[in-house]
Amino acid sequence: MTAILITGGAGFLGSHLCEKLIASGHDVLCVDNFHTGSKANVRHLIGHPNFELIRHDVWLPLYVEAEQIYNMACPASPIHYQRNPVSTVKTSVLGAINMLGLAKRCGSRILQASTSEVYGDPEVHPQPEHYLGHVNQIGPRACYDEGKRCAETLFFDYHRQHRVDIRVARIFNTYGPRMQPNDGRVISNFIVQALQGKPITLYGDGSQTRSFCYVDDLVKGLMKLMAQERAVDGVSPTEPVNLGNPAEMTIRQLAELVIELTGSSSSIEYRPLPHDDPRQRQPDIRRAKTLLDWEPSVDLQSGLQQTISYFRKLLQS
Ligand code: NAD
Ligand code: UDP
Repeated sequence: MTAILITGGAGFLGSHLCEKLIASGHDVLCVDNFHTGSKANVRHLIGHPNFELIRHDVWLPLYVEAEQIYNMACPASPIHYQRNPVSTVKTSVLGAINMLGLAKRCGSRILQASTSEVYGDPEVHPQPEHYLGHVNQIGPRACYDEGKRCAETLFFDYHRQHRVDIRVARIFNTYGPRMQPNDGRVISNFIVQALQGKPITLYGDGSQTRSFCYVDDLVKGLMKLMAQERAVDGVSPTEPVNLGNPAEMTIRQLAELVIELTGSSSSIEYRPLPHDDPRQRQPDIRRAKTLLDWEPSVDLQSGLQQTISYFRKLLQS
C-alpha cells in the first residue's frame, strides 16, 4: 500500500484517479479547494478506510506525508481558467512550488498534470514531446499555457537541483463522466445542448481539430507513468510524456457525431472562434507506447455513449 496525495482530487480527472488508486489498494489523501471540483465527485469515497479529504488551497504550503503525489489542481476548461487568470497562474506556479517542496521534504515521487496547451497553436503536427511549442504569452489562454509551462520548468529545476523524482504527463483533451455540464468544454457543451434540443454552438467554421481521450484510458496512463521506474530505449521516465488518443477529428465532425448518437434534432449554430483557439491538435504517443506500453483502447463512439448516459441521468435528476 502506498500513501498517495492527489491535489485537485475532487475534480473530473482527480476523482477518477482517487477511485482507481483506492481500488488498487492504496491510501489516498485528496486535497482540493473545490474551485471547479466538488465534494459530490468523491462523496462515494467518503468513509472508505483508505480515503481522506482535506479542503486546502495549493497556493499555501501543506505539511502532510506522502510517498507519491499527483499534482492535478488547476482549473482546466477555458471558461474556468480565464475567469480569474491571475488565480490560474498562481495555482499552477505556487501549487507546483508547494507540492515540489513537499516532495523534496518527503522524498516522494511527484507527477505533474501538464497539458497539450504547452504546445500552444502548434506548427508541428502531430505534436511530439521535443516540440517546444508556439504559445502567445500575452493572450487570454496564456494564464493556463504559460502557468503550465512554468510548472514544467519548476519540475525540471527541482529534479536537477534537488534530485526530486519527477513525472510529467502532457495530457491531451480528455472527456467522460463527471465533466461538469456547464464547464464550457466542447464535449460537455455539445452533449448537454443535444440532450436539451438546443442549438449546438460550433465556434469558427468547425474545421479546427482535436483528439479526444476517454477518462479511463487517461487514468491508466497516469498510473503507469507514476509506476515507471526505469528508462526504456534511452527514454527516462522523468522526461515529459504525451498522454492522449491520437484519433483526430474536426469539431464539426464531433458535432455531427454527438447529434447522431443522442438522436437529437438540434441544429448547428455558428459562433465566433475564441482568440488563440488552436487550429489543430493530435498527440504523438510513440514515447508513451515505448516507455509505458500504453495506448488508449476506448474508441470515441463507445466513450461518447458512456458520457451521454452520464449526462442524460444528470439532467433528469
Ligand atoms: P477540473 O477543473 O475538474 O479539476 C481541477 C481540480 O483542481 C478541481 O477539483 C479544483 O477544485 C481543484 N483546484 C483548482 N485550483 C485549486 C487550488 N488552488 N487548490 C486546490 N485545488 C484546486 O479539471 P480536470 O479536467 O479534472 O483537470 C485536472 C488536471 O489535469 C488539471 O491540472 C488540468 O490542467 C489537467 N489537464 C486536463 C485535461 C482535460 O482534458 N481534462 C487536459 C490537459 C490537462
Ligand atoms: N468549441 C466549440 N463549441 C463549444 C465549445 C468549444 O466549437 O461549445 C471548440 C473550441 O473553439 C475548440 C474546441 O471546440 O476549438 C475544443 O474546445 P475545448 O474548450 O473543449 O478545449 P481546448 O480548446 O482547450 O482544446
